[in-house]
Amino acid sequence: MSCKETIIGEIHGAEIFSPSGRRIVLDGGETEAIVVDRAMFDRAIVTEALRAGAHSFLGAQAAGATRVDGHVELLVNQDEETRRFRCKILIGADGVRSDVAKWFNILRPRKILPGFEIEMYGVDGDPGLVKLFVGQDFAPGFFGWIIPSGDTARVGLCVGSGNAYAYLEKMLEQPMVKRFVTRAQPILYIAGGIPLGFPKRSHADNVMVVGDAACQAKATSGGGIFTSLLCSTFCATTAIEALERDDFSARMLHRYHKAWTGSIGKELRKDIAIHESFTRLKDHEVEEIFEVLDNPKILRLIRERGDIDFPSKVGWALLREEPRLLKYLGKGLRAMIARM
Ligand SMILES: Cc1cc2nc3c(=O)[nH]c(=O)nc-3n(C[C@H](O)[C@H](O)[C@H](O)COP(=O)(O)OP(=O)(O)OC[C@H]3O[C@@H](n4cnc5c(N)ncnc54)[C@H](O)[C@@H]3O)c2cc1C
Repeated sequence: MSCKETIIGEIHGAEIFSPSGRRIVLDGGETEAIVVDRAMFDRAIVTEALRAGAHSFLGAQAAGATRVDGHVELLVNQDEETRRFRCKILIGADGVRSDVAKWFNILRPRKILPGFEIEMYGVDGDPGLVKLFVGQDFAPGFFGWIIPSGDTARVGLCVGSGNAYAYLEKMLEQPMVKRFVTRAQPILYIAGGIPLGFPKRSHADNVMVVGDAACQAKATSGGGIFTSLLCSTFCATTAIEALERDDFSARMLHRYHKAWTGSIGKELRKDIAIHESFTRLKDHEVEEIFEVLDNPKILRLIRERGDIDFPSKVGWALLREEPRLLKYLGKGLRAMIARM
């Protein structure tokens, strides 16, 4: 199965609900995002890697790594046995609590936002629209969502801190959420965390980290699949260059860090500033912003300029069109705008 065959839905817009339940619909009528079956998608990626000559060690756990004589020695536990591997480059794609980053002193995320999702069957609503729910009561520090996924939907949220599952239970009781899930039945629980922060480096001698391990998820939406895949292309390019030059020094591998921070990293940095501004808002300020945005001219601008992977683009356009929004920006975002 190819990665493309794992697509189970297409999203053409969003319904956004304010804390009081006021609804704004942003629907450009064109595909803005795709939904994949994550388990199938991961399988398709592994199959592609195997086709290209990779070896897989199913159920193996990397237990430790150190640098020895210009190489990395890696200990891997599998089937109650520990095996020792020696490699020129170790790439840690081991998620938000990356062991590889810890072992090689690569800075960890400033914060991990707890998240929880329930995959449900029987969720109502337009399958082409994601639903986003904002409210300090049930999703403090982030927001909640319903993401249609084929004939099911993922109903979830992230929060700044605390018990994400308890907050999700609260969110499911909100009338604006309840109307979509009254008939719904749970299928699967998904728990995780979103890394927040921008790493000073994503490499060391003989080592690179990528994906959530390098905080490459978007602080605005929590989405990390597109950004991780993009950054992994930079990572692979540098790994090939390093092998060609037989140079695995941090100075050489810095090319990877420079490549991703100089491209998608610029957006990720802005996303952190947007996130910080957003989390400072009180519910009544969110209502005021809804009041400003709920205007046909502004909604058209969002539809035309909005890009789920580059939210800052529409942000700047909105500020030019509606300077009233400036007062809701935090210090970080103001400083960024001043430098532009
Ligand atoms: C609730 C929630 C919902 C999300 N929804 C979306 C979404 O709709 N769209 C989107 O784009 N992103 C979403 N994300 C973010 C997305 O899941 C991550 O950004 C993405 O999975 C990062 O991929 P990764 O490969 O870096 O890490 P992961 O997907 O976490 O993979 C890391 C892998 O490394 C393995 N591992 C860890 N340590 C070791 C070890 N020592 N030895 C061996 N293996 C190890 C883990 O078992 C895991 O399989 C969501 C996140 C959360 C928390």
